[in-house]
This record gives sequence, C-alpha cells and structure tokens, in this order.
Amino acid sequence: MKPLQELTKQNIWKLTPYSCARDEFKGRAASVFLDANENPYNANFNRYPDPLQEELKARLAEVKGVPAGRIFLGNGSDEAIDLVYRIFCEPRQDNVVAIAPTYGMYGVCADINDIEYRPVELNADFSLDADRLLAAVDAHTKVIWICSPNNPTGNALDRKAIERVLTEFQGIVVVDEAYSDFNDARPFRLDLDRFPNLIVLNTFSKLWASAAIRLGMAFASEEIIALFNKVKYPYNINALTQQQAMKMLADLQQVQYWRATLLREREQLLPAIAELPICKAVYPTDANFFLARMTDADSIYHYLIDRGIVVRNRSRVQLCGNCLRITIGTPQENNALLGALRQYRS
Ligand SMILES: *Cc1c(COP(=O)(O)O)cnc(C)c1O
Repeated sequence: MKPLQELTKQNIWKLTPYSCARDEFKGRAASVFLDANENPYNANFNRYPDPLQEELKARLAEVKGVPAGRIFLGNGSDEAIDLVYRIFCEPRQDNVVAIAPTYGMYGVCADINDIEYRPVELNADFSLDADRLLAAVDAHTKVIWICSPNNPTGNALDRKAIERVLTEFQGIVVVDEAYSDFNDARPFRLDLDRFPNLIVLNTFSKLWASAAIRLGMAFASEEIIALFNKVKYPYNINALTQQQAMKMLADLQQVQYWRATLLREREQLLPAIAELPICKAVYPTDANFFLARMTDADSIYHYLIDRGIVVRNRSRVQLCGNCLRITIGTPQENNALLGALRQYRS
C-alpha cells in the first residue's frame, strides 16, 4: 500500500475539522450543560447526540468482532461510499475502478464528485477476473470497488481473487459486504490486520431489517477511520437511529431467526422459479435475493406490476439482459409471486 498521506487528498490530510461542543467536553461528571446553545427542555431530544456514537460502537465491536476504533458509522452505507470519494479522490484527476455490473451508488457518487469511473465486466458467470480488474488500474487510480455477495448478481466473489486485488493494488480497496450476513463465509472485516488498504462496508438495511433508520458501517484501520471522522458531518447519526440500533442489537436471536427463515424460503423459491417455462436460468445466490433470466423480462415485469407485485427489472444492465432481480419475502409474498408467474401468458 502507498503511504496513506499520498492516497489522501491534500486538503483533507491538512484539514482542521469542526470541533463541536460534544467533542470539547467529554467528561461524564458534569450535570449543567450550557455549552451548545440547546433548549434545556424537551428531555431526550433537546441535546445533540454523541458525535462518535461510542455506546453503539462498543456494542457493535462485540457483535461484529471489530474494535470500536476501527468502526465508522454513516447515514446508510451511502454516506461511507460518498466519503471515500471526498477523502481520497481529486476531482478531474483521479479515477476509480469497479466491478460491473454492481451496486449503482459507486458510479453515481463518482459522477457527483466528478471522478472518472472505470467499470470492468465480471466474467459471463459473474465471477471475478482479478487480472482484468487490475489491468484497468493506472497511476491515478485511488480506489477499487468490489461488492461480495454482489448486487445485482447475488453471488459471492472468490475470496482468493479479492485477496489478490488487495495485495497487488497499492491504493484503497472497498469490499462492500452488505449481504455477507446471509452467507457463512468468513467476512473481510475480520482481516483488517492483513490488509491495511481495506475498507469493508456493512449495513443495517438488509438482514437487520432497519433500512428506515439509515445506518451503515465502514470497517478499516484506525488511520482510515480517523479520516472518515474528520470529514463527516459532526452529528451524522441522529439519536433516534442510535437508540433503535441498540434495540436491534439487544435481540440477536430475532435476527438469526429471520436469517434462517429467509434462507429456507430462498431454498424453496429458487427451484420453483427455475422450473417455470418463462424462466431460462436462476443464478446461484449468496444473498437474500436472486437474479433470474426470463424469456421476456420487460413484459413479465409489467405484468407483475399490474398485479401489485414489484421486482427489480435489471434487463438493461450489462451481462443481465432479460434478468429480473427478486428479493426473498415472507412465505405469503413469495407464494403471491409464484402464483402470478404461473398464470403468466405471453
Ligand atoms: C442495499 C445495499 C447497501 C445498503 O445501503 P444503505 O445506504 O446502508 O441502505 C449497500 N451496498 C449494497 C451493495 C447494497 O445492495
């Protein structure tokens, strides 16, 4: 890995961050707070929240097996994705490389930040060709984006191939593991010691059933996390979100129950979809969704909409012609989908 200072935008490296009242006073002993111009009434919501979310990070450290100092919390993973550009990439000068197809936000945030985005196609079976990915790198490449299990293809990428990218690329490698909760493979967040250039993303939006509270996690070295903390909005995670996340983290059994239920449903739904005459292929998945290649994705998509069933039409995405991306729902929802598809007539 190149020195972190060399990879970081110079204005960010030199930045003196905003120092908020909650940063300056950290003691627990005080009982009179006259430092932040808050209204002293409306208890529970009148005070600014903890800017570094220490209580929540301490609990996450236990659950995720990563020390609190290596955790950044964002307003969804989307905040962490945007911050990667704002920290490392010089507009109109640097570029990033990403697998394709993949999650759309990497490309949108590149455009917003005026950074060249270099998509590199996966193989036809959606596996990762590390050589082809690395061949797209040049002297101005700061970041490589990898998503595993990948969205929209559903498959986990080969760990050895990802490790090669981490070892051979001298810049930052982001491995988005939003769906690793559905998969028994060893998550990359447990290997931060081996890869100083690694940033791993997790989210509360999928298995943790909390998309509405907007909470995403980035795991990385303390040095990289310090850069995230410098650039983020001071109170980026509101108090309601922190409280609700603590509540979710108190009942791990519930989450494990959801996981088992969704995986069982997936096991039943996939072969049933594959059997339909209008389905040409269902691709192997390690996530709570799957990609299905249909005879006519557009027409089937609109037919389902007319019946009040919404799936994702990915047929205009590279390598995904005529593909629908389907999320695993409740047994009732999955049955409604199957029933509708069985009645489809072209
Ligand atoms: C859904 C998803 C996320 C989650 O984003 P949030 O902003 O945390 O809701 C992140 N990455 C991928 C690949 C996803 O599919």
